[in-house]
Amino acid sequence: MNKQQRIKMMAELWPAACAFQKWNRNDDAKRYDIFARVLTAEGSARREHFLQLIESRGHISGNDLVHEDDISAVFKELKELAGKIPLVDPKKKQLLWVVRNQLRPCLALYVEQPDSYMTKILKERHKVFRGVSTIEDLSSQPRPDNKPSELMMFVFTLNDRIDALRSAYGDTGHMMCVRARVKCKCAECAKYGQRHLEVLAGSESEVPLEAELQPVTEEEPF
Ligand SMILES: [Zn+2]
Repeated sequence: MNKQQRIKMMAELWPAACAFQKWNRNDDAKRYDIFARVLTAEGSARREHFLQLIESRGHISGNDLVHEDDISAVFKELKELAGKIPLVDPKKKQLLWVVRNQLRPCLALYVEQPDSYMTKILKERHKVFRGVSTIEDLSSQPRPDNKPSELMMFVFTLNDRIDALRSAYGDTGHMMCVRARVKCKCAECAKYGQRHLEVLAGSESEVPLEAELQPVTEEEPF
């Protein structure tokens, strides 16, 4: 990073990001975490180099930013964090919607603490780098060789776990969706409409009709 770039980062981009995120601008570790998250992201050019750096030294600092594309990746991230460009891409928003409004309510039927359950998957199944500590930190960008994104992998894993829990409990997919009050995609619901089938099955007392089994937010997932 040349002097001009250093000034741009430390006097402009970093303070703006801190102000928007309500962070302490003297928190160097926070900034190093952001460098790490950006530079070790799947598909990033010098990922291995930066991973080694983190392993040997514990962090990446501004002095390690030498290549222009690394610098511009970090600058772009800081601008996003400052609210200058949209933080979340539409694909990511959609997947997070599914996790929050479809999968989490189903999971909550079978485990007492759905959030810690999801955090456990995150830790077990995904390499948790510095800067990646929540589901929202997972990348939604497809990985090299057309592999699904980290976030997509998480959704797949969570889906599998819920399926296993559901079978063990003895619920059908339909019953799970009715009980969790989420949209059901089974053939009968697709054909007759969800409320219709619910009445046919005599389970209307279990779910108040006014709930209508609609997603809890206005947004549609797809
Ligand atoms: Zn159904």
